[in-house]
Amino acid sequence: MTYTLRSALIPVEDGYATVDVQIEGDRIAAIGAGLPTVGTAIDAENKLLLPGFVNGHAHSVQFWQRGLIPQLPLELWLADVMDTSPTALEQTYLGALGTAIGTLLSGGTCVMDHLYVIAGHEVESVAAAARAYKEIGIRAFIAPLIQDMPFVAGYPEGLKTLPHQPYQQSTADILALMETIVTELHEPEAGIQIAVGPTGFHRCTDALFEGCRDLSDRHNLCRHIHLLETRSQKMLAQERYGGSAVKHLQEIGFLDHRTSLAHSIWLDDADIAILAETKSTVVHNALSNLRLGSGIAPVLKYLAAGVNVAFGCDGAASNDGQDLLEAIKIGSLLHNVTDPDYKHWITPRKAVEMAAIGGFTGVNLADQVGSLTVGKQADLVLYDLKNLSLLPRTDPIKLLVLGRPNAAVDSVWVRGKRVIADGTIQTVEVDRFSQTVFNYSKGYSKPQYKTIHQVEAHYRRVMGLTECGDSVVD
Ligand SMILES: [Zn+2]
Repeated sequence: MTYTLRSALIPVEDGYATVDVQIEGDRIAAIGAGLPTVGTAIDAENKLLLPGFVNGHAHSVQFWQRGLIPQLPLELWLADVMDTSPTALEQTYLGALGTAIGTLLSGGTCVMDHLYVIAGHEVESVAAAARAYKEIGIRAFIAPLIQDMPFVAGYPEGLKTLPHQPYQQSTADILALMETIVTELHEPEAGIQIAVGPTGFHRCTDALFEGCRDLSDRHNLCRHIHLLETRSQKMLAQERYGGSAVKHLQEIGFLDHRTSLAHSIWLDDADIAILAETKSTVVHNALSNLRLGSGIAPVLKYLAAGVNVAFGCDGAASNDGQDLLEAIKIGSLLHNVTDPDYKHWITPRKAVEMAAIGGFTGVNLADQVGSLTVGKQADLVLYDLKNLSLLPRTDPIKLLVLGRPNAAVDSVWVRGKRVIADGTIQTVEVDRFSQTVFNYSKGYSKPQYKTIHQVEAHYRRVMGLTECGDSVVD
């Protein structure tokens, strides 16, 4: 399809300009004033045009756990996430749809889904998510979340102290499954890419990281992991490596320009230098970090050191939504309290750049998409500046980032295809989707508190938390 967007407002160096934009096929064909209309004319007057953002870290299946798990630190919260994770492939499919809907309606055109797969149905799980993403038309990276160490390995002294079985699959079997998933489902030309996604050093052996590294090299796949999300993980790195997990990941060759690292909170200056040197990307999930009490990522230090930083929502079990604009707002404002020098603070324009080109840098696509540049792929979002939440007309990007935009996305193109028009998703019937989710979730889900009870006392002891009587309360 061909489109001409008439009189769109775009950011330029010294303010804003009104331009026409032609989209031909999957590309931005021209940007300028007074262009002839080709194809379908789109009235973009009083609308702000920005490149699509990347939701740089999500776990789509957690769509089903919105509002479910109490506020707990990651190590206890995760125990209940695992106990309550859906086990039907249909829910994997619907969770991916729900994640895509939230992302698209908040300015995202791409998602990095660190996907929970159903044991014994790993390939089908990835296929279900890929089907959802293709149907709705979002660009997606699917990194099946893998590990080859037992759950208790994620706790300081966990393997030594807590009862456990060996992990249910061998490293070789997991890597063989990944190879199958890549062979069957990696389709860059269809906007669906498989990435390697070992969950993090806390539950993965070097052999798994090295196997993923080699797979990534062979197929040019992105690499995506959790990194040093909590103080507990920092303690674990000391226990396991006698020092820095970042240095260890560098030594085994896992960090490069295709590597994105969710959270990255508990890093020191030497670690930050390694991220800059290896051109790794940090994905900042501030809302999730607040909900789980994980800490504040040193994002201003990352930016000062030249480390690329993108934004993510994280899974909905630690976000309870999937609103990228909210993640960007909190993820930029949060740092004002970490540095009294206001000249270092993240401006709304900088935040928008981090979300767009920063996000696409993190998935190794910055040369093809992520900015309003002729020749790049058309991942574009039009925001309605007559929407009440973006009024009065002051500075549109400031209000978009600092305000509370509500249904302000008018149109979205992904790879040149129009996915949203007049605020409505064109590819999927959202009302029907809502009804399906409602039907599925009529029985109110509850936290399980099973695994938590097996690990809570240990967690409190290793973290130096004093005894306080009863266990987890809702
Ligand atoms: Zn995560």
